[in-house]
Amino acid sequence: MAIDDGIESRKKEVIGIIGAGISGLLACKYCISKGFDPIVFESESSIGGVWTKTMGSTKLQTPKPFYQFSDYPWPESVTEMFPDQQTVLEYIESYASHFDLIRHIQFNNKVLSLSYECNGNSSIRGDGEWNVWGDNADVFNSNGKWNVRVQDTRTLSTQVYQVDFAVVCVGRFSQVPNIPEFPQNKGPEAFEGEVIHSMDYSKMDPKSAANFVRGKHVAVVGFLRSGQDIARECSMVNGIEHPCTVVIRTLHWNLPDYFPWGLNLGYLYLNRFSELMVHKPGEGLFLSLLATAFSPLRWGFSKFVESYIKYKHKLAKHGTVPEHSFLNDLSSCSLAVVPEGFYDRVEEGSIKLIKKAENFGFSKEGIVFEGQAEPVKFDLVILATGFKGIDKLKHIFESPNYQEFIAGSDDSTTVPLYRECIHPLIPQLAIIGFSESLSNLFTSEIRCRWLAELLDGKFKLPSIEVMEKDIGEWDKYKKRYSYRKYYRRSCIAALHIWHTDQLCKDIGWNPKRKKGRLAEWFQPYGPQDYSV
Ligand SMILES: Cc1cc2nc3c(=O)[nH]c(=O)nc-3n(C[C@H](O)[C@H](O)[C@H](O)COP(=O)(O)OP(=O)(O)OC[C@H]3O[C@@H](n4cnc5c(N)ncnc54)[C@H](O)[C@@H]3O)c2cc1C
Repeated sequence: MAIDDGIESRKKEVIGIIGAGISGLLACKYCISKGFDPIVFESESSIGGVWTKTMGSTKLQTPKPFYQFSDYPWPESVTEMFPDQQTVLEYIESYASHFDLIRHIQFNNKVLSLSYECNGNSSIRGDGEWNVWGDNADVFNSNGKWNVRVQDTRTLSTQVYQVDFAVVCVGRFSQVPNIPEFPQNKGPEAFEGEVIHSMDYSKMDPKSAANFVRGKHVAVVGFLRSGQDIARECSMVNGIEHPCTVVIRTLHWNLPDYFPWGLNLGYLYLNRFSELMVHKPGEGLFLSLLATAFSPLRWGFSKFVESYIKYKHKLAKHGTVPEHSFLNDLSSCSLAVVPEGFYDRVEEGSIKLIKKAENFGFSKEGIVFEGQAEPVKFDLVILATGFKGIDKLKHIFESPNYQEFIAGSDDSTTVPLYRECIHPLIPQLAIIGFSESLSNLFTSEIRCRWLAELLDGKFKLPSIEVMEKDIGEWDKYKKRYSYRKYYRRSCIAALHIWHTDQLCKDIGWNPKRKKGRLAEWFQPYGPQDYSV
C-alpha cells in the first residue's frame, strides 16, 4: 500500500532523512502521509539498522505488543513474545514494503556531514535569524537550507544535496564503539592476546563466531544486553572446560522476565498510576505532593521487583546485588532481560561472573584490575562496553558550534532536545531515536507523528526560551532518577505516558486513550492505544 495514494497536493519542501533503521523508516512514512516526498540516505545496502547487525541469537528485549507499529501489528505467525533478530528484521522489511517506503531510500549513501546555510552564510546563534526557529514562526525558512554531503560508498564519489529540513535518525548503538580509557601503557597494545569490541563479534556469522572463541579463555567485559548474549554463545561452544568470564563493572537489575512474582511489570511501571509516584518535569504543586506522598509505594514497588530478581538469579550467592534501586535502572534504560538459560550456565560453571573495579588495564597475559597486582589470564577479551552515540551524532555536523550544542561542554548534560526531537538552537532539523525508552519503536513512532504534524503546520514550536526551560525540567528529572552517568541515555521509560501526553497535546489529540477510568489509570499504555 502506498500511503501517498490520494494525496493530491504534493509539498514542495524537501525533507532529507538520514538513516533507514526503524526511526528513519517511520520518519519517511509519516512525512509521506503529509504530502512530502522525502529522500532517505542510508549508508548500508539494506534497511533495519541495528537489527541487521546483531547476533542471530539476540532476541527482542521488549515484549512484542509494545514493540510494534501502531498501524501494522506483528503477523499472527509470530507467536513468541520475544522474537529473534531475523524475525524482527522480517517484520521491519514487511512494514517498509507494505507502505512502499523503499523507493524513497538511497542505499549505500553515507552522509558525511550536514552544514546549515542561511542567506548564503553558514549559521551560528545570532540576532534576528534565530527567530525563525520558534517564536511562532514557520519550521521552514525559504532562505535557510541544509547542505547534506553524501558519499556513495561503492564509488566513493560525493554529492551535495540541499534540503529544507533534515531528520537525523542515525541510531546510537552502532558504528562508534565506547572503548574504556586505560592507564598509560596498559591499553590493549600491552596484551599478547586479542581484544575486540562486541560490534566486531556481532558481524561474524554463527560458525565463524564459534570458531573464533573455541578453546579460548574468553573474558566479556560488560553486563548488559550484548555482554550477556555473547557470554551465553561463548559458553555454549566452550562449556565448563573453558568457562567464559563476564567482567561486571557496574551491576544492574537484569530481569528474568516481565512478570515479577506473577504480576505484569506493565502494571507496576507502565501505567498512569505508576507515573503518579514519580516527580515529573513541569509538574504543579498537586502532582509534586502526590509523588512525595507516594514515595513509600514507589520504594515498595522497587523492592518487590528486586526481591524477585534476587531470588530468581540468586544474586546474593553470586555477589551481584546492585546497590541502587530497580527504579534507577528503569529510569536510565540500563537493564536487560537475561537470555534464556544464562544463569543455568552460571550454575553449571560454563559462565563465571566476576565483579571487579570499574577501572582495569591490560598486561601481557590478561587483565589487571585496579587494586590487584596479579593479572587474570585470558586469550581473548571482548569489550561489550556499548557505543558513543553522542559522538556519532555530534560529528555529523560540520559546524563546531552545532557539535558543541549537541554534546554540551562537559559530561554533565544530556543531549538537549525539546520533546526529545528538536534542538532549540539548530534550525530546520529534528533528531529521532536518540532518547531511549523501554520500547524504542513505540517512542520513535509517536515522535515521528508529532514531527509530521509540525512540518504540516498543525502546530508551532514555542520560543527558544520555552523549549530550553522544558528541556531543563526533563534534565532535572533524568538526573534525579537515573543511575549515575546513565542519565546521558536520555531515558524516558518511567515517564513514557507523561512524555507521550505532551506530544499528543501539542498535536491536539486527546492524550487519554483508554476506555473507562479504571483502564485509564491502571492499564499499561502501548502502541495500539495510538492507532487512529
Ligand atoms: C542488540 C540490540 C537489541 C535491542 N533490543 C531492543 C529492544 O528489545 N527494545 C527496544 O526498544 N530497543 C532495542 N534496541 C534498541 C534499538 O536500537 C532500537 O529499538 C531501534 O532499532 C533503533 O532504531 P534507529 O532507527 O533509531 O537506529 P538504528 O537501528 O541504529 O538505525 C540507524 C540507521 O542509520 C544509518 N546511518 C548511520 N549513520 C549514517 C550516515 N552517516 N549516513 C547514512 N546512514 C547512516 C545506519 O546504517 C542505520 O541503518 C536494541 C538494540 C540493540 C543493539
